[in-house]
Amino acid sequence: MVFKCQEDSFLKEFTGTIVSCEPANIKLADKELQGFNVVLDNTILFPEGGGQPCDYGTLNEKPVRSVIRKGSEAIHFVEHTEPFVAGENVKQKIDWNRRLDHMQQHSGQHLITALFSRDYNFDTTSWWLGADSSYIELATKDVTKEQLNAIEETANALIVEGREVSIVVTSPEDGIKFQDARAPRGLPADHVGPVRVIRIEGIESNMCCGTHVTNLSQLQAIKLLHAEKSKGKVYVHFLAGNRVVKKLSECYERELAMNNVLKGGPSMHLELIQKVQANLKTLNKSFQKLLKDNATMEAEKLNGLSEKPKYFSMHRKDGIEPDFINTFLRTAPTDIFYFLSVADNTGKGHVVLRGDPEVIAKLGPSFMELLDGKGSNSKGNNLQAKVNNVNKIKDCEAKLKQYFS
Ligand SMILES: [Zn+2]
Repeated sequence: MVFKCQEDSFLKEFTGTIVSCEPANIKLADKELQGFNVVLDNTILFPEGGGQPCDYGTLNEKPVRSVIRKGSEAIHFVEHTEPFVAGENVKQKIDWNRRLDHMQQHSGQHLITALFSRDYNFDTTSWWLGADSSYIELATKDVTKEQLNAIEETANALIVEGREVSIVVTSPEDGIKFQDARAPRGLPADHVGPVRVIRIEGIESNMCCGTHVTNLSQLQAIKLLHAEKSKGKVYVHFLAGNRVVKKLSECYERELAMNNVLKGGPSMHLELIQKVQANLKTLNKSFQKLLKDNATMEAEKLNGLSEKPKYFSMHRKDGIEPDFINTFLRTAPTDIFYFLSVADNTGKGHVVLRGDPEVIAKLGPSFMELLDGKGSNSKGNNLQAKVNNVNKIKDCEAKLKQYFS
């Protein structure tokens, strides 16, 4: 069956008659919806198919959340508590923005598929209409930047020219005759009745169940974003219609925000960011050097004491790397027991106990329990562990003090 939406893709309202209405539920975006599966004598709401997602809209102002095709019927899921009655006339309305967007992407896909085939002999093996951008999968190993630019230029020239897009409804046998051999999609197994052939004047003709614009000028523009190579195929990502304008607005907003942050215009953004990155690298090097100096200084302070303490405890919560502890221990005297830690502001950190193995065996387990230590690594005179609760350091220090008093 050819539905009303396929006869006239610009029909926004239509009155249909209820054929059946059964209680049903569906899962949409992880939400369980209660309602009814509704079949009408005809519909302007496109059921998903041919790579095109379904339409949304209303039946007597009640929201239609999904439409799928089963054989010759379109099944509308309506979210509502009251059933419709068979024979009842209901007003169908379409979410036009969604439909026009889908038509622009779908007809846009037909156009670039035809041009890649005509100009470079690249067959389209599948396509995807995404919520933000779409792609065609080309059976080739590579698409160059020059080829992308050339197809984009030709496609936009044809849009300006305003080539007609028409539909021929015919028998499956005759449909094959119209079909351009290069991108055979085939009919669904449960297809019944006549087929539709979509023709772009002078460019292509292909069997397709989708809704399409009637003139290429309705596509407004096409932007080929980039070609992504994967497993011997190339995915060409593209935008058509309003999506081009929307994307440009988003990019421009981002540019304005970046101008403020970087204190420079778009042509300088890359250079300015590279400068910031280089500065950061230099700063980080100096910072690491300072930290090492600081750790060595702390250790030398201990070396300089005429009377060494029995234990030494040092804890930093400023996000310093664990390497600070290693640098410190490399210079620090060995006849002192050490309890050291570094942590960031999340309360997670790295703890080291270094010294007499007997003390480590005695205090280690209770420290790990207090600090919520994970994966502690104890080797004789050295215990290292990642800990999740540095707030209990004070309690550990009290135990340490008690042990050595
Ligand atoms: Zn199609």
